[in-house]
Amino acid sequence: MVDPTRPSALAAPAVPTALLLDFDGTLCPVDITAEMSRALGRPGWREELLALRAAGTGSRRAQERLLPYLPQDLDTLLEFALAHALDPAARPLIEAAESAGWTVEVASDGFGFYIPRMLARAGIRAAVRCADLVTEGDHLRPVTPWASRGGDRCPDCTTCKLDAVADLHTAGRRVILVGDGRSDRIAAEDADLVYATDLLAEHCAAAGILFRPWHRLADVLADLRRRGELPAAAGLPTPTGLPTPAGLPTPAGLPTPVGVPAEPARKAGAGTATAPTRRPAA
Ligand SMILES: [Mg+2]
Ligand SMILES: [Zn+2]
Repeated sequence: MVDPTRPSALAAPAVPTALLLDFDGTLCPVDITAEMSRALGRPGWREELLALRAAGTGSRRAQERLLPYLPQDLDTLLEFALAHALDPAARPLIEAAESAGWTVEVASDGFGFYIPRMLARAGIRAAVRCADLVTEGDHLRPVTPWASRGGDRCPDCTTCKLDAVADLHTAGRRVILVGDGRSDRIAAEDADLVYATDLLAEHCAAAGILFRPWHRLADVLADLRRRGELPAAAGLPTPTGLPTPAGLPTPAGLPTPVGVPAEPARKAGAGTATAPTRRPAA
């Protein structure tokens, strides 16, 4: 990956850029898929998960095995998902990237019955690469159009983000990955710039993968602007809600002007099934 401290990496890139965004734990501060099991899973799901982890099972087979522990009813699962709101900077980040001509893609190990709806509810239209659940008789069945194409590095993902990075590279784009969890680890090895938090940050640090830390998505947007990857938002509210002094150059070499990010806004009428705190991804 690109050394983010090199001057060349700080210059506005000539190569077209793609922003590859994880959903659970990234665009949505709560990992919906993981929390669904915690909130709705019948007894035994946790032991099954630990056994699958111990065996090194990939996410595709793991989700197949864990799915029967959930209520086999999409309405119940959707109601749970919709009780959670996206990070308030999700839309500004995506809009800033699109305004700069970047390709934006959401790649998720979660499911299509809730991801596009949650994005649309936040006013976001973006390409989404994810699996889905379909009702078949009295049970749910996963459909995985983006399952791993194969290879030793990442052989059994529900939705393979290493493949997503490869596809964007094949299309001639450098890839900026924003993620938090287990499903982002291998993709981070090949991405050109990595924004990592939680388990992904721990993994990158341990594996020697260079990354930029983030806590809220406002941090990512502010950092991309500070680095000159994205134009400064002159005159527009900054992610922290403070007006930007229009026309003033960004002071080079000063600490990142990232304020203390606000707590994610809860939607009016949003449920209280889960605290809006970030948890390590499942
Ligand atoms: Mg995640
Ligand atoms: Zn994979």
